[in-house]
Amino acid sequence: MESNPLLPLPEGVQIDQIQVSKNEVNITVIATHLTCCCPLCSHPSSSIHSRYRRTVRDAPCAGRRVQLTLCVRKFFCRNPLCERKIFTERLADLVRPWAKMTTRYCEQLTSLGLATCGKGGTRLAARLGMHTSRQTILRRIMALPDPPVGTILYLGIDDFSFRRGCQFGTILVNLESHRVVDLLPDRKAETAAAWMRQQLDLMVVSRDRGGEYASAATQGAPQALQCADRFHLLKNLREALEGLLAHHLAAERKRQIHVTVDSQAPVWQAKRVIRSSPKLEWLQQARREERLAAYSQVIALRKLGLSQAAIARQVGIGHSTVSNWLAAGTFPERKPREQASQLDRYLPYLFERWAEGCHNIACLFRELVGQGYKGSYESVRDNLVRLLPSGRKNAADSSSKTSALATSRQAAFLFLRRPEELNVEEQEQLCKLRQINLEVDLAYELVQQFAQMLRTRTGEQLDAWLNKVESSKLLELQTFAAGIEKDKDAVRAGLTWWINNGMVEGQVTKLKLIKRQGYGRAGFPLLRKRILHAL
Ligand SMILES: [Zn+2]
Repeated sequence: MESNPLLPLPEGVQIDQIQVSKNEVNITVIATHLTCCCPLCSHPSSSIHSRYRRTVRDAPCAGRRVQLTLCVRKFFCRNPLCERKIFTERLADLVRPWAKMTTRYCEQLTSLGLATCGKGGTRLAARLGMHTSRQTILRRIMALPDPPVGTILYLGIDDFSFRRGCQFGTILVNLESHRVVDLLPDRKAETAAAWMRQQLDLMVVSRDRGGEYASAATQGAPQALQCADRFHLLKNLREALEGLLAHHLAAERKRQIHVTVDSQAPVWQAKRVIRSSPKLEWLQQARREERLAAYSQVIALRKLGLSQAAIARQVGIGHSTVSNWLAAGTFPERKPREQASQLDRYLPYLFERWAEGCHNIACLFRELVGQGYKGSYESVRDNLVRLLPSGRKNAADSSSKTSALATSRQAAFLFLRRPEELNVEEQEQLCKLRQINLEVDLAYELVQQFAQMLRTRTGEQLDAWLNKVESSKLLELQTFAAGIEKDKDAVRAGLTWWINNGMVEGQVTKLKLIKRQGYGRAGFPLLRKRILHAL
């Protein structure tokens, strides 16, 4: 039978017979070469000793399992100098000696294992008509040879956590080919240095700002230029900035609370006046006129010579009132009615707490009771809702959107971003932050200059920038600058060269995915194989 186009076979091998059942295809294959070479002495031989059958599993065909029955011959080696007298013919391109599966089937299983994991690979294989075990897949992966490292000129190095927070490893990436070239089981300087010593062509090592990899590169690749990663530089700057902004923002918040309390007080007074309804005003006016009329009558009766007691009886007011009015000399306007409530003396405290962000009225009420307040909860609630400029809900909204200051973390991010990328609200927020005081404004200028240097790769400006920070009084930025001074060459290279560790971070993300596919059960050797052969 001719070789079937649907089942590629190497030259010299033919299909003899095909048997198809519901789930399986059994294909008998025979070798047709007239001669075969001895594997030991390579001497060709045509003397057949015997034949035997060997079954191997092959890649499935349309969901059916495929089994090859190989009719294999044994030959005599006629080379008198050869130790081997009888040898079995090799079908090197199809199946390896002693193997239970064809080479292509083996490669498919390995690919499944690399793309999934032991158990997942087994499950997926079953769906594809391949029957295998977890151990087989893992064994296939572990049997893969390490890919050659090749020449590395630009190396990226970083750590990754093998067990979060407990066990760390090192990932090494060729920044030109974008491939992971190796994983190391720890993140010690000696281990990384030993690896680098074997890479004689290393020109640049891109690393984070940690001391371990810096010293590894110094020991293992002294000829290479070290490059501090820009992301880590920016992260360190942001942390320094956050510290600086935190205490300025805290001071600003305190100041704002006082301003709020002061500005609330007149509102309280004003509201009291405004609270009078037109009807009430009319009533007050009518009472005043009535009172004025009584006063005029008192004065008139007094001029007629009546006694105070007689006047009181005639006018129908109290004796003491007559006495007071006569003593006053002019019409005594009634004093505005005191409307003091029990809550009044607690209002500054309430406004302060509200401005601090406590908008839970029940909580505020309990605090007031703790301070000796004897009034009702309703009084606290009604007064708060009425007296605060925009009521409870609006007050909460406005404090979170427009009037509230950003947190130091948010502010630090605002400071670092490109000004042209900020929307209107962010620009307003930034403007407000810069107005806090001169130090904050200066910090913004310095931070933007550093970010600009980093974006435009103008590392030659680093010294000038460091001098500016030195002459400023910004302690946090000076601490950051002191850190740069210790690692200045690498930082300058990082601010100048195209190289950075972004690609390494990307590979770490991929590593994490592959690690989790193993459900935390795979050890370092398996992880390393899977990463080095990752698809
Ligand atoms: Zn031989």
